[in-house]
Amino acid sequence: MHLDRRRFVQGTGAALLAGLAPTFTGVARAAAPFAHPPLPYAEAALVPTISERTVRLHYGVHHAGYFRNLNRLVEGTDFADMGLEDVVRKTAGRAEHSGVFNNAGQAWNHIVYWEQMTPGGPSAPGGDLARMIDRDFGGLADFRAAFLKQATGVFGSGWAWLVLEEGKLALMGTQNADNPLAHGKATLLGIDVWEHAYYLDYESRRGAHVTAVLEKLVNWDVVAGRLAAK
Ligand code: MN
Repeated sequence: MHLDRRRFVQGTGAALLAGLAPTFTGVARAAAPFAHPPLPYAEAALVPTISERTVRLHYGVHHAGYFRNLNRLVEGTDFADMGLEDVVRKTAGRAEHSGVFNNAGQAWNHIVYWEQMTPGGPSAPGGDLARMIDRDFGGLADFRAAFLKQATGVFGSGWAWLVLEEGKLALMGTQNADNPLAHGKATLLGIDVWEHAYYLDYESRRGAHVTAVLEKLVNWDVVAGRLAAK
């Protein structure tokens, strides 16, 4: 078992544990070392904010495709023996490995994305996280406004992130598969702003989608758990 993968599993919660378990003993290289984790809830669980059809395509076609491509690209290479986070770190900014980076990055980004919307959690942050949002953004409403501005400001496909940087909360926008992990920052929350994430439900209204996800879907217990694990 690869230690980096074990750390990653601990950091992302029990719901995804089964899907990230190693598929080989370490004796021989596996043909498909990276397993697409199960969606931690039903495809209809995010309705009405995100439709069942969007989740089915987003999880079952797009996310699954990143894993399939990644496994094809790493077969027979040293990357096949690494944890997913190490693959992202080691391929970041290296043009000769852009295909591996894009697929590993998107595989990882969507694990962050699905997990943080697990139904049943609080719709507003509490505890240390709430105090840090007050301190670093001036309160929840100002945080949501700043996050929305970050998300709508990403040109083309990409992501908006809440990260922890030197003990402070900060926002970050990235394009395509890029993510905070590739830049040495700790990820607390990530919202997908690729058109496939919202176009079926919101058409061109990216901002309306991001606002709805922030207000209605984010499980702040998951975000607080990531903060506590840093
Ligand atoms: Mn996506």
